[in-house]
Amino acid sequence: MKVAVFSTKPYDRVALTGANEAFQHELTFFEPALEERTAILAQGADAVCIFVNDVADAAVLRQLADLGIRAVALRCAGFNNVDLAAAEEAGIPVARVPAYSPHAVAEHAVALLLALNRHIHKAYNRVREGNFGLNGLLGYDLHGKTVGVVGTGHIGQVFSRIMVGFGCRVIAFDVRENETCLSDGVTYVPLETLFAESDIISLHCPLNPHTHHLINLETISQMKRGVTVINTSRGALIDTVAAIQGLKSQKIGAMALDVYEEEAELFFEDLSDRIIDDDYFSRLQTFPNVLITGHQAFFTREAMGNIAATTLRNLSEMEASGTCENEVRAMG
Ligand code: NAD
Repeated sequence: MKVAVFSTKPYDRVALTGANEAFQHELTFFEPALEERTAILAQGADAVCIFVNDVADAAVLRQLADLGIRAVALRCAGFNNVDLAAAEEAGIPVARVPAYSPHAVAEHAVALLLALNRHIHKAYNRVREGNFGLNGLLGYDLHGKTVGVVGTGHIGQVFSRIMVGFGCRVIAFDVRENETCLSDGVTYVPLETLFAESDIISLHCPLNPHTHHLINLETISQMKRGVTVINTSRGALIDTVAAIQGLKSQKIGAMALDVYEEEAELFFEDLSDRIIDDDYFSRLQTFPNVLITGHQAFFTREAMGNIAATTLRNLSEMEASGTCENEVRAMG
């Protein structure tokens, strides 16, 4: 298939080109993200390959259909950036990579939790500057703490197991229970109970209309004072303004983010010589108890290889049959 690959970075080219030896698609790499202004780049292609911050809304999908695009291949697990109903209407199947390495994301969530709690990011700089003082570096034992996991799918399951291994009590909320989590010792509780009892809350559910701003003023008020919140899922699960208020009032004791509501304007680019004009993001950066990474949880060698291979396989399947095992469809 002729594939227009949007939002490509050098590491995407390497992974996709390597994996494509087995598939022989004709890949054209574009640096810009897919949006209304750039959709025209897909002219002459049969399919588009997109990532987390590309926009495939109704207008873009209509444009793609007019250009003769027959498939959308997401090289990620989440699909909140695609209007699935519009894709169906346009007759374009959409496929994703459901599980490329749940370990990559779960381990990054743990890395954020450990770094944040033990102030590793601060300690690293201090020691390099010859400051061996410990003031401000006090953490807490994870052992014995209650960890609330929202969403126990592929990633939540791995994260829960690691937390059980640390000696934590793991409670979870999901719309359906996961047998493996239950046998690992995870207890399912209503969301209100999870908010009320957790010392640490980690988000691993998808972003959809039910989960948008799941963490908001109301739910923050239900949490334990000093709670640690970790989000490696999607930025808009957290109402940033409410989180800033929670941090200011110290209801939220610490927060680590790998994703951010308005990340499309920031992440994956080197903006170090520019002025960041997102005041909420800048405010978040001022808190000593906030740790942010730029959507890198997926970024391991294993995950990149699996993403590339599954994306290209999805394209081959859609080329052959117009559908594929990893197709995602609008619900209802
Ligand atoms: P998954 O589909 O395996 O699991 C998602 C789980 O969330 C499922 O068990 C589902 O039942 C549950 N869920 C759905 N609606 C819910 C709700 N309203 N409340 C609670 N739980 C709900 O997905 P996954 O592979 O575990 O990925 C989870 C999320 O992680 C993805 O949606 C994606 O947004 C994010 N992600 C982030 C990165 C990153 O690099 N930061 C990488 C991959 C995935």
